Amino acid sequence: MQKIKVKPGAKIEDYKAYGSLYTSVLDFLEQSKKHIKTIEGRTIWMINSTAIGGGVAEMLPSQMRILRELGVSIEWLVIEASENAFFDLTKRIHNAIHGSGNGIFTDEDRKVYENVNQQNLDRALELINDGDIVVVHDPQPMPLAAMIKKEKKVAIVWRCHIGLEEDTPVTDAVWEFLSPYTNDYDHFVFSLPAYVPKGLKNRTSIIPPAIDPLSHKNRALQIHKCIGILYQSGILEEHKSILYDRYNHLVRRVLPNGDFGDVNELGDLGFLYRPIITEISRWDRLKGFRELMKAFIKVKLDNRKNGDPNSLEYKRIEMTLLVLGGPDPAFVSDDPEGQEVLKELTEEYQAVDNDMQNDIAILLLPLDNPKENALIVNALQRSSSIVVQNSIQEGFGLTATEAMWKRKPVLVSGAAGLKFQVEHNKTGKINNDPTDIKSLAEALSYMVNHPKERDKWGFNGQLRVVKHFTLFSQLVSWLEVFAKNKD
Ligand code: UDP
Repeated sequence: MQKIKVKPGAKIEDYKAYGSLYTSVLDFLEQSKKHIKTIEGRTIWMINSTAIGGGVAEMLPSQMRILRELGVSIEWLVIEASENAFFDLTKRIHNAIHGSGNGIFTDEDRKVYENVNQQNLDRALELINDGDIVVVHDPQPMPLAAMIKKEKKVAIVWRCHIGLEEDTPVTDAVWEFLSPYTNDYDHFVFSLPAYVPKGLKNRTSIIPPAIDPLSHKNRALQIHKCIGILYQSGILEEHKSILYDRYNHLVRRVLPNGDFGDVNELGDLGFLYRPIITEISRWDRLKGFRELMKAFIKVKLDNRKNGDPNSLEYKRIEMTLLVLGGPDPAFVSDDPEGQEVLKELTEEYQAVDNDMQNDIAILLLPLDNPKENALIVNALQRSSSIVVQNSIQEGFGLTATEAMWKRKPVLVSGAAGLKFQVEHNKTGKINNDPTDIKSLAEALSYMVNHPKERDKWGFNGQLRVVKHFTLFSQLVSWLEVFAKNKD
């Protein structure tokens, strides 16, 4: 068991200085007062299984910094596990909560699960005191809090970051396997109401995942900074044209009296810029990259075939670029499926004609360097005209929230989480079936050809994020959970 140190970072004052966040920070401060009183003298222990990578590790430091600034005692523990069998099992539990796998869990599985958690117990008991609140994230450390509760007078809460909209035989089986521990828990937190399994409904709160608006992934970046980051990163090396086009556009806009040579070269198109459509995700079949690329190609081919070359619509589509970004497999050794998905995608890309290839970029991001990765994601999203999340399944797509915060109109599938995040024709478009290439292509070309709608939707999207999906709205909900479970 390891106690994780949280580095200094943004302060409440820093968030307040952002006009659009000001009100939600004040609301948070107002609402937090009464709850904080009820947890005085107690420590909140957050427990998960990794200090780097993944949503929990990304969000916890900012949440802890804010709460500590308000005087809350909050600590972060990471369990230690060396057995492969343990991670195989917890991956199977994870998949089963998503409804996949065979739903078979054996006595041997239970032994592995409990042994690893038991090995972390002594250290936990040294640190945690009567009256404290223990919050366990995801399945890996679930038995641990139940073990702690047998020895200490603590409240225990389980935060589940995944879920499926319906109960199936596989989900029933996994909840049955977990029931010896869930029975001991005082409270549960899920991301969406639909994810709560039937047995846990009356002890549950809903807290949607949120973003930290001042993290490297989300903080404001000036356009020259975006260009610099993308340029320096080298990830656009093979796709210089994208950076070049973008750069021309931006420089022209930043310096309207600058050199207009390129505008002349572009002739009629001088007043246009190249719209960029972007999706950034893990290379997972469920993220719908392949379908998105097919739809993009269809938009282009249909335009070439049926469009009027003199029309503005035709020119816009002609100039549109597609950027698909995901982790560089060189740094993600434990994801053979990801490498396969990337290979399939690249093969499909190589099969299209040269013109088309010039309009598509597959980018590999340096996930081994979290800060550089975050800044590149930030710069790519900010350089985009449309951000897509074409997931076939999605618990909650952080990428959509990240893009909306950056005032980008989003095009998402009807997967449960995304439908909850995005308002159709208000903050973006929801194309229900991500595998329906025709409807996806229609949505893409509509969005490319309606820049005013895009501006409006981007603006609305940022407001929606400020209201429901930032650190502050999330912390209010957490404080309510702590206050409810103080004994
Ligand atoms: N992400 C990243 N680099 C990549 C791919 C994804 O930083 O190469 C980030 C992305 O910005 C988001 C997170 O990983 O913050 C993915 O979260 P999401 O909820 O969208 O999907 P998940 O991976 O949890 O299924």
